[in-house]
Amino acid sequence: MKQVLILSGKGGTGKTTVAGAFARLAAPCITADCDVDAADLHIILSPEPVERKSFFGGKKAAINPDKCTSCGRCLEVCRFDAVASAPFRISETSCEGCGVCAWNCPAGAISFKEVLSGAWAISPCRFGTFAGARLEPAEENSGKLVALLKTEAVKAAEASGKEFLILDGSPGIGCPVLASLGGVDAVVAVAEPTVSGRHDFLRLAELLRQQKIKGFLLVNKWDLNKEETETLEKVATGLGFGLLGRIPFDTWVVKTLLDRKTLGEDGSSLAADAVERAWNILRTELEK
Ligand code: SF4
Ligand code: SF4
Repeated sequence: MKQVLILSGKGGTGKTTVAGAFARLAAPCITADCDVDAADLHIILSPEPVERKSFFGGKKAAINPDKCTSCGRCLEVCRFDAVASAPFRISETSCEGCGVCAWNCPAGAISFKEVLSGAWAISPCRFGTFAGARLEPAEENSGKLVALLKTEAVKAAEASGKEFLILDGSPGIGCPVLASLGGVDAVVAVAEPTVSGRHDFLRLAELLRQQKIKGFLLVNKWDLNKEETETLEKVATGLGFGLLGRIPFDTWVVKTLLDRKTLGEDGSSLAADAVERAWNILRTELEK
């Protein structure tokens, strides 16, 4: 089973559109949406509804009013303004679970409880199987949830003998991206031909270099800036990236997504054809 992770230096570059199209081209496969902070791949893959499993990713402080002497120490030491007085209590939304208040409480009145941070599910979809998760509002620990989702997706792929696991990653190079990198065979960096797009790509390329993961560049809306596309490809080649080609600006993409379809599902278009060529190149590379 080969794991292909689609990433981009920032959101809105077409990463999820490419991931959805790859899921169709690799079908039947497992597809996982690792962008749990802003999950949206399910919108175009329409997985069948199944019961979600709870994700408890962090702990929050709570005051036992029977033990609290109202000394106010917890209010003084909390750097997150999570403690309110009269009576002393802790806001679950603001608490970061750092533990400083409990350590300072002279009455031993503060304890910690696990909180529901999100939910995840593995469900059938029209291209095989979809693994999706979502964080609760204001919850963090997206890295832990991504790690859990990936583990479950890999298990599902191995159990069903699927050839490909297509992962739609988070934008940027933060914790959820790091959590999604483990075990991947190739990363596809989707980038737009702008100066900031090149800057974002370079940050991502440096991360892949550190992690020793093979990267491939796919330029989206390349015809908006031909010179910058050439620069981006030259830079990528110099860094050892493979080139998967160029996706042109194509208004058909918006129509396809509004219809909740993946690119190419409604027939051919300039962008759909470019993504299919990219997939064929990638597949050949993965088979080497
Ligand atoms: S530090 Fe402990 S005893 Fe003091 S107000 Fe806070 S919870 Fe109550
Ligand atoms: S655990 Fe940390 S963030 Fe939460 S209330 Fe205590 S000091 Fe504040």
